[in-house]
Amino acid sequence: MADALLGPAEIRELAARLGVTPTKKLGQNFLHDPNTIRRIVAAAGLRPDDVALEVGPGLGSLTLGLVTAVAHVHAVEIDPRLAEALPSTVTSANLTVHRADAMRVRAAEFEPAPTMLVANLPYNVAVPVVLTLLAELPTLRGGLVMVQKEVADRLTAGPGSKVYGVPSVKLAWYADARPAGKVPPAVFWPMPNVDSGLVAFTRHTPPAGIDRSAVFAVVDAAFAQRRKTLRAALAGWAGGADRAEKALLAAGISPQARGESLTVEQFTAIAAGAALSGV
Ligand code: SAM
Repeated sequence: MADALLGPAEIRELAARLGVTPTKKLGQNFLHDPNTIRRIVAAAGLRPDDVALEVGPGLGSLTLGLVTAVAHVHAVEIDPRLAEALPSTVTSANLTVHRADAMRVRAAEFEPAPTMLVANLPYNVAVPVVLTLLAELPTLRGGLVMVQKEVADRLTAGPGSKVYGVPSVKLAWYADARPAGKVPPAVFWPMPNVDSGLVAFTRHTPPAGIDRSAVFAVVDAAFAQRRKTLRAALAGWAGGADRAEKALLAAGISPQARGESLTVEQFTAIAAGAALSGV
């Protein structure tokens, strides 16, 4: 029989039995609401043949929901106490536990290859974890992550929005992202001080023409001084404002525009324009 989902009493009992005191440093806020688990699993758009990658299984709340929804689950947990205890909570045979830092995993460590990222992420490293995994694991076709609500807003923002910035553009390089709902603090133990948000994403083919690191360098430079015109903001990156202007004009973009108005395709055009015009 499948293991049942964990409610508030089970989470506290499990933590006490394992001697686990949640630490802020590792973003340990554990879900103790079966309805939220069911909601996350449903919103993830999983197929029965998917291989889920869960970052930070913690006490196993979401893992228990995932093992019955997909063919296999890889759970990557940095905290050795939690990684060691997970197989006694989640007894399904289709679970592989990796005691590892999600920022340092490599594709070769996962067999079968992960197809979907589904995670209640440690909030302090949520953005780099998502971007690193999309870069490292080309088999990921999409995912659903829970992050701090403000971060969810940033990850799903489009050009012109006040919160559009580096995370929005970099995620847009890899995937189409959309907000998939808000989650209140009360479903976690311990309760965080902030609301949480769900972000669903589907991988797409990145813009063609130039490699990712060249495009990301332009994005970083453009938003490092987001109030400046691109001509000024990109001067350091291009080796002078005149050279920045040349690259912008080669891409068909006004030197007076600001980074917050550009799409990922336009950032790509700037990097490609710079390469072509010898900037
Ligand atoms: N999935 C569980 C849940 O929903 O109850 C726990 C989520 S908790 C917000 C984040 C989890 O990520 C914790 O178990 C923490 O130890 C783990 N974690 C933190 N940093 C990590 C990292 N760099 N790599 C892997 N796991 C990490």
